[in-house]
Amino acid sequence: MKEEAWDKIHIRNLEVFGKHGVYPEENRLGQKFEVDADLYISIREAGLKDDLTKSIHYGEVSHFMASFMTEHTFRLIEAAAEQMAEAVLLRFPAMERIRLEIRKPWAPIGLPLESVSVEIERGWHQAFVAIGSNLGERENYIQMGIEALKARKDCKVEQVSEIIATSPYGMTEQPDFLNGMIKLRTLLGPWELLKALQEIEQKAGRERLVHWGPRTLDLDIIFYDDRVIDAMELQIPHPDMQNREFVLKPLAELAPYLRHPLFHKTAGQMLKEIEKT
Ligand code: AMP
Repeated sequence: MKEEAWDKIHIRNLEVFGKHGVYPEENRLGQKFEVDADLYISIREAGLKDDLTKSIHYGEVSHFMASFMTEHTFRLIEAAAEQMAEAVLLRFPAMERIRLEIRKPWAPIGLPLESVSVEIERGWHQAFVAIGSNLGERENYIQMGIEALKARKDCKVEQVSEIIATSPYGMTEQPDFLNGMIKLRTLLGPWELLKALQEIEQKAGRERLVHWGPRTLDLDIIFYDDRVIDAMELQIPHPDMQNREFVLKPLAELAPYLRHPLFHKTAGQMLKEIEKT
């Protein structure tokens, strides 16, 4: 992460008229909403060069949010916030993250209150996804997996490693694998990413008949930012990555200095260690 990653542009109290609400009157008559946003973007270069093209035009962001709030109708301000955050992040790709608060000062609850609001923070994350296939048209399945990720607006495939052929691991009586690594920028959380990858695997016709057995397409999350997750269905970093040359080789090609958050070793170091043994 860049040291300037905590720079922010603040937008405060943007007043918009919208028709969001669970009551039919709210959808018919509409009411006032107030929006606060913190836009996370490195503004160092814009600051040094006095150059707007190196920053984000807060006027454009404000107009975009105002239009979004009036052109859509949601029952919940939770939904307005969630969907507007995604729309803003997709429209302004230089923005790393956004904190968004939507207030409803005239919330019709039959009691005097200053306002009710929801606040969320959403942003881009970096994930490394290992891709493999050892059944059928292996190149096609790998390509299909990459294309399926590219087709999602909430995922940007930033880099794909060289695809290498490796002998099978675990159960060795099966065809060779093709393996690679994908560097992904994603708006999905780790569990959402797992679900998205499993859907892509299923589309590729993968049947998980035998553990470590042949598969048309295998997609594993190796890293997700520097998160550590220890759940039954999801472990991040992938628990066996340090023992798998077919994971470390393509990973070290894309990110040799990326450090494992628990072992504190870089991808390059882990690869060297396994090549020795
Ligand atoms: P596999 O057959 O080796 O692809 O394993 C798939 C199972 O591993 C799924 O049930 C996942 O819930 C689980 N799993 C645990 N951690 C991960 C991870 N980091 N990436 C992908 N699948 C994972």
